[in-house]
Amino acid sequence: RKTLLLSRHDVTALLTMEVTLPAVERAFLAHGRGEVQMPSKVYLSFEAEGGDLRAMPAYAAGAAGVKWVNSHPQNPARFGLPSVMGLYILSDPATAFPLAVMDATLITAMRTGAAAAIASKFLARPAPKTLGLIGCGVQARYLLDAHRAVYGAGFEVLAADASAEASQRFAAESGARVVSLEEAAGSDVVCTSTPSRTPVVARGWLRPGTHVNAIGADAHGKQELDPAILRDARVVIDDWTQATESGEVNVPLHDGTYTRAAIHATLGEVIAGKRPGREHAEITVFDSTGLAVQDVAVAQVLFEAAQSRGVGTAIDLLGL
Ligand code: NAD
Repeated sequence: RKTLLLSRHDVTALLTMEVTLPAVERAFLAHGRGEVQMPSKVYLSFEAEGGDLRAMPAYAAGAAGVKWVNSHPQNPARFGLPSVMGLYILSDPATAFPLAVMDATLITAMRTGAAAAIASKFLARPAPKTLGLIGCGVQARYLLDAHRAVYGAGFEVLAADASAEASQRFAAESGARVVSLEEAAGSDVVCTSTPSRTPVVARGWLRPGTHVNAIGADAHGKQELDPAILRDARVVIDDWTQATESGEVNVPLHDGTYTRAAIHATLGEVIAGKRPGREHAEITVFDSTGLAVQDVAVAQVLFEAAQSRGVGTAIDLLGL
């Protein structure tokens, strides 16, 4: 019995945003219908090193697996490594045999971009004219790709970052225009993807009807938005336990400047039609922490694509 190894190179050859988007939307729908098993992420915190490692198991739609992934914001500057690196183990639910071990760095980036663009599809006003990207690191590239896959290329991309070098490099690659944080926040759809622990976006910078995808806050203590934005907005989270412990809402919930009762719904509930999405010209916020069901859904379609196209290296890992 062989286990399929899929390297970054293999995953890059197989995984497109067009494959990722429907898999991630199906994962949110199943989550919204209560059809998944997904214990909360387990964190190991490396306080001295300024990073963490997480285990993310899930069982959904006949697929089971676990992602082992980190967030080390200092990695690029200090070690020339990405902030986020991941490994996925896909197991057969019938026997628990490890079907595949794969690079999950690209899976993470793609499924995160896809989740934001799906949230935009369900919560933003149609046909945005501007997409503001606050934080121009790895994730910004996939946020942009996913929004292009959903909306086409008919919007202007406004890019802002605390590092001028990061925003300029991103602009040169993507055709974005480098602007101030405030100007980027004035876009129709705004995506924040920074590792910040203090608000980066002020309430007064957002226009009525804006949709914000708050992506960066995915661990306790992280925060990108002025809590006044949450108080004024229709807030949709990805998962109750995860978002309240580690998402954009975690800091204001803990310091008492925001309440659980103010949270509108999960994205899955909106997709499943259990709760309405946007109804007026309000600001909407999607608080993304990243769900294990997104990963298992993408890992499963990757495994199937690898098998049908003969990609990857099969090894007798367990000697069976
Ligand atoms: P990255 O290090 O590649 O990029 C982060 C960018 O943010 C850098 O360009 C940095 O200069 C910029 N930045 C930092 N502080 C800033 C500030 N105060 N104002 C403006 N810009 C600032 O990281 P990445 O891989 O793109 O990840 C970004 C964040 O998203 C991290 O916090 C990561 O943990 C999180 N993340 C969330 C999910 C999810 O599913 N929600 C998935 C992956 C990563």
